[in-house]
This record gives sequence, C-alpha cells and structure tokens, in this order.
Amino acid sequence: MTRPFWKRKKLAEMSPEEWESLCDGCGRCCLVKLEDEDTGEILTTSVVCALYDTACGGCSDYADRHVHMPDCILLTPENVGTIPWLPATCAYRLLHEGKDLPPWHPLRSGDPDTVREAGISILDEVISEAGVEIEDLPAYIREWPDMGPPQEPETREAEGKSKK
Ligand code: SF4
Ligand code: SF4
Repeated sequence: MTRPFWKRKKLAEMSPEEWESLCDGCGRCCLVKLEDEDTGEILTTSVVCALYDTACGGCSDYADRHVHMPDCILLTPENVGTIPWLPATCAYRLLHEGKDLPPWHPLRSGDPDTVREAGISILDEVISEAGVEIEDLPAYIREWPDMGPPQEPETREAEGKSKK
C-alpha cells in the first residue's frame, strides 16, 4: 500500500494542493496573541483576527488576506520551524518536527468535523477583534489545549517554497 503523501514527502516537496490540504482549518493561528513585556512569553487570547469568519470558520478572504492583513504570516517550509506560537497541533509544525498527523486530522479521518469534535477548532469559542478595544485584550487571555512550546525537529526540511 502506498504511504500517504505527508509521510512520503518533505514539506518542501509537496504540491500546492498537498500543502493546502495539510491545514486542518482549526483557526488557532488566527488568534490574537499578546507578548509579555517582561518575559517575552507569548499569550494567546480568545479574540480572533477580524478577517476570521466566526460563523463558519476560516479566513473570509483567504486569497487576498495579505491585502487586508499585511501581518498575516505566510507559512512556508522555510519559516514553519521559526514561528514559536504555531500550535503544537498544527499539521505544518507536526510534520516539520518529524511527527505524524493526529487521527482527528481530516486527511486521516476523511471528515473535517473531527477537528471540532477533538476540541481543536476555535469556532464557537472566540470573538472577533473587530468588536474588542486593544486595551481590553488582556482580559481575553486564555490557555488553549496543546498549544505547546516549539520542539527541535527530528528531520530538517530541504530548500523549497510553498504558500499557505
Ligand atoms: S494552526 Fe495550522 S492547521 Fe490550524 S488553521 Fe493555522 S495553519 Fe491551519
Ligand atoms: S488574515 Fe485570514 S488567515 Fe490571516 S490571521 Fe486573519 S483570518 Fe487568519
């Protein structure tokens, strides 16, 4: 039996379609984050980017998101290991660290709803930053399960470029 593409290929070797399909749609990378001025610790909130669709989930203008949100990170095989706040459950980070996708990932379960059922999706648990004043953000600091600190990758990615 042929092994699935995410086990056969490095991130940099994947086609654009394969790369995109790795995103489980959890929305955790769209959470507004705060940095502790004293410790440098990154704190997550229950406030989400204004472009996030809080009714259906996902980015409401994914193709043009960088026009509206210039600071939205463009994930690539080169930078995936350098983003400390990327959730421990994120498929890009898991594969970069040499791990497998979890059973609830849609590529394994065949069902996008398993992300919600596993408690990984932020849908229904966030409010849009459009309705929150900046000075009120600390009141929304919240711990999410399995956000996790970065780990040393077990394998190094080769050169290459992909777009999320
Ligand atoms: S954290 Fe990773 S898997 Fe989840 S939405 Fe962001 S890029 Fe996709
Ligand atoms: S612009 Fe879209 S993909 Fe980027 S953080 Fe906002 S909702 Fe997420």
